Amino acid sequence: MKIANRKKSFAVPAASELLNAVEWWSISGLRLPCELEAMITPTIRDSSLILKRIFALLAAMVLAIVLSGCKASHHPSEPGKLGTPASSDAMLAVIEEPGPIELEKITAANWVVIRSGLINLDHPAAQAAGLEDGDEPIEIYFYVLRHPTYGTFIVDSGVESGFRSSESNARVSWLVTQAMKIDELEVRTTTAEWLALEQQPLAGVFITHLHLDHIMGLPDVPPGTPVYTGPDEAGAEQFLNLFTRGTIDRMLDSTGKLNEWPFTADPANRFAGVIDVFGDGSLWAIHVPGHTPGSTAFVVRTPQGPHLLLGDATHTRWGWENGVEPGSFSHNPAQSAVSLKTLLDLSAQYPDMKVHPGHQSLSDSSAR
Ligand SMILES: [Zn+2]
Repeated sequence: MKIANRKKSFAVPAASELLNAVEWWSISGLRLPCELEAMITPTIRDSSLILKRIFALLAAMVLAIVLSGCKASHHPSEPGKLGTPASSDAMLAVIEEPGPIELEKITAANWVVIRSGLINLDHPAAQAAGLEDGDEPIEIYFYVLRHPTYGTFIVDSGVESGFRSSESNARVSWLVTQAMKIDELEVRTTTAEWLALEQQPLAGVFITHLHLDHIMGLPDVPPGTPVYTGPDEAGAEQFLNLFTRGTIDRMLDSTGKLNEWPFTADPANRFAGVIDVFGDGSLWAIHVPGHTPGSTAFVVRTPQGPHLLLGDATHTRWGWENGVEPGSFSHNPAQSAVSLKTLLDLSAQYPDMKVHPGHQSLSDSSAR
């Protein structure tokens, strides 16, 4: 169902949403704090410049106050009890053996997002390919993992029922609706619709990272279902968070404390950390920081062979095939490039492994 013709709601934005406009400018490329920094440094030549400098300093102080509390979410987190830190050597020792998990990939929605957020267009490969900014069609996925002993889990959360409505989703702020083109979201399957057909209760949700498009199905998840994330996801500070925090918090309203994976350094030094999720080598969480501090990829061992769920270590088919990290949506682009390289190396070592970028599918990566 396309929600392009929904009735527009023009409620006056709250003060917090006006503050969120700082991020809107940042996304638009103005990088306001950097502009201010440039205004403060020139040599003072006359009194008007002194006034300008005072104004700029005051503005910078206000911004510093605003930006200092710019966490992804106010939602509480705690160390998770599931999963055991492991060496990537242990994962590679079993990765090609058929595993017990049945994997299903579900497309929850179609959407459109700016390409410069998804792909670093300044990367030499992107420049050489002549990639330009513009709308990039994407899909929102979630993955169903059915383990014969531990039950049914999902990776990421799909899209909640509120996005089926012809009215604006009350959990999504006015600015997020406008800036992120929520009206362009074309829902295919809500998480509630999927859950209604499931025989087994949902045992848990593994979130690849705490961005809106990965948690917008959580309101449909039964309260009390444990939700797992990488470390520092809620507490990470980024301009983007000022823009999305209220909406993120509302999406987490019915979720208990977030359970953080207990990543430790990979003894084999391939990844930032590796977790044997169930302790039987069937599912591995891999710490791939950069897009967000706790970004997590997963290796799933199925009867047909391994699958690699990248999360948004790369969003697009082109980004994966050309080794180009995400663009302006990332918390730490340089670190995300390093993490993407670790996943590309893993894929190169096991070319039969099916790979799933965050928001587009490779032609040979069907799951079931
Ligand atoms: Zn995403």
